[in-house]
This record gives sequence, C-alpha cells and structure tokens, in this order.
Amino acid sequence: MNYDMPLYRPPSEGRSLIFQITLGCSWNKCLFCGMYKGKRFQVRPWEEIEKDIIEMSWIVPDTRKVFLADGDPLAVDTAFLIRTLDLINARFPRLERISAYAGPTNLMEKSLDELKSLRERKLDILYLGIETGNEALLKKICKGATTREIIDGSRKAIDAGLRMSTFIILGLGGVEGSYDHAKDSARVANAIDPQFLACLTLMLGQYEEFYEKKLMGGNFKLINKMQSLQELRWFVEDLEVSDCKFGTEHASNYLPLNGRLPDDKEKILDLIDGALKDGKSGMLRPEWLRGL
Ligand code: SF4
Repeated sequence: MNYDMPLYRPPSEGRSLIFQITLGCSWNKCLFCGMYKGKRFQVRPWEEIEKDIIEMSWIVPDTRKVFLADGDPLAVDTAFLIRTLDLINARFPRLERISAYAGPTNLMEKSLDELKSLRERKLDILYLGIETGNEALLKKICKGATTREIIDGSRKAIDAGLRMSTFIILGLGGVEGSYDHAKDSARVANAIDPQFLACLTLMLGQYEEFYEKKLMGGNFKLINKMQSLQELRWFVEDLEVSDCKFGTEHASNYLPLNGRLPDDKEKILDLIDGALKDGKSGMLRPEWLRGL
C-alpha cells in the first residue's frame, strides 16, 4: 500500500492501521492550517481502497485499530462509507475500533440514523477541531462552521454512540482575544461534553507576520509562554464536563498535563498555577522542544 503524502493522524492513533479513503480536506480553508494546502480534495476510487484493504488484511490480519484518512473522510457519501467499513470489518476479524477526523459540516450533513449505521460498523472515535468557541474568531479563521453547528454536529455523533475527541488551539485569538477565546471555548466544550478534550498551542513560525498582518487585520499578536498558561487556566477553570479525558501533551504546548475531568480538575489547576507563579516549573517544555 502506498500513501499519498503528507499523511496525518492524531498521536493516539500511532498504532493504528491507516487507510486513505479521501485525499486532502474538503474544506481546506482554515487560515491557521497548512496540512492539506498542497492537495486537491478527492474521494479515492473504490477499486484502490478495496485493493489496499485486501492487501493489508494479508499482511497484518490481526489489526485491531484502523484510522481513516485524510482530513475528513466523513465528507464521503454514507453508502460508500458503509461499503468501506463493511469490507474492513470482514477482512480484519479482530478489529476493535475505527477512527477518523471529522469536520462539523460533515456531521451536520449526516443524519442520526446514518451515524448510527456507521457506529454499528465499529466507527468509534471522531477527532474534531473545535479550534475556538468564539463566534467572531471562528469567522476570522475561516472555519466554515458556527459554534452552533460544531455543538449540534458533535452532539448528534455522541447521540449515535460515537466518542468525540475534540481540541482547541490556544493562542488563536492572540493577546487581545485571549480571554474571550478561552471562556467561549470552555462554553462550547461543555455543551459538547466530549469523551476526550485536548489543547494545542498555535505555532506559526515563518507565517507569523502573514497571519498577523494579512489575515487577522494587523492587530494580532501571538501569545507568549506565560500568556498561553494564563489562557489555559481561564479555559480549564470553566470546564464542566461529565467524564472526559483531558490532555495538553501535544508537542506544541508549553505545559504537558493530563487527567480525567471532573475528578482531576483541581489538581490540573494547581499545576497550571504553579507554572504560572514563576514560569520555571520543571514540567514546562523548553521552546526548542516545541513542535507540531
Ligand atoms: S477543516 Fe481541519 S484539515 Fe481542513 S483546513 Fe480546517 S483545520 Fe485544516
């Protein structure tokens, strides 16, 4: 099986067998995201997908976890997805779960029954970027979805029995928008009540000036380490989720943390406060070790 590069998957899918159902992202317009900028979105021909699945079932027949790539395989017609999932289930008898990235608009377009039929075929975890719960900021970054659509799409998937792994991006609102971004993002995360919630931190590298001046109207200033910790604090203190694995271990973050909410909320806040006190906590990731 040959992959069409670049190929992305969440860190937690490191041991999953990946099948590319689609190439690129059907939206591909978010300003902060360069993942699929060099790819034109397309659904791969069925014959190629079928060949990959059958070939890999001979090589790794004991596969338990499968990840569907690229950016949003749920953009594909449900009948096509069912055909794909049925073949994966038939060829991998020890299969436990199938996961994929999902965009809010994909979820809005699928009915509850369609999502249930995918769940019945072991589609289990959907990774969805909330990015921010701030309506104005969502528009600015060209997410292509409102907070209502993000919440409703995610809730529908949860109602269908799927597990949602969601994330927000610290720093998206810059210094000026930091507080509102944190508070509004917590409000949206609470409304979704996901099973997994993670934070990433915006890293722009050589695109900082471009993002700042051309795209964000010239008044955008990237948050620094301490401002990122403060934003994380504002976010976590408002989280009220019922049972959620929370993590900031992604390499872009300054402070790697994890725990289960709500039980570990105070412990997580104490660790953030400790790091905020002097910015020298041994847990803080040095700038040179940060990455995407
Ligand atoms: S929907 Fe996701 S993959 Fe597509 S452009 Fe936006 S962030 Fe990138």
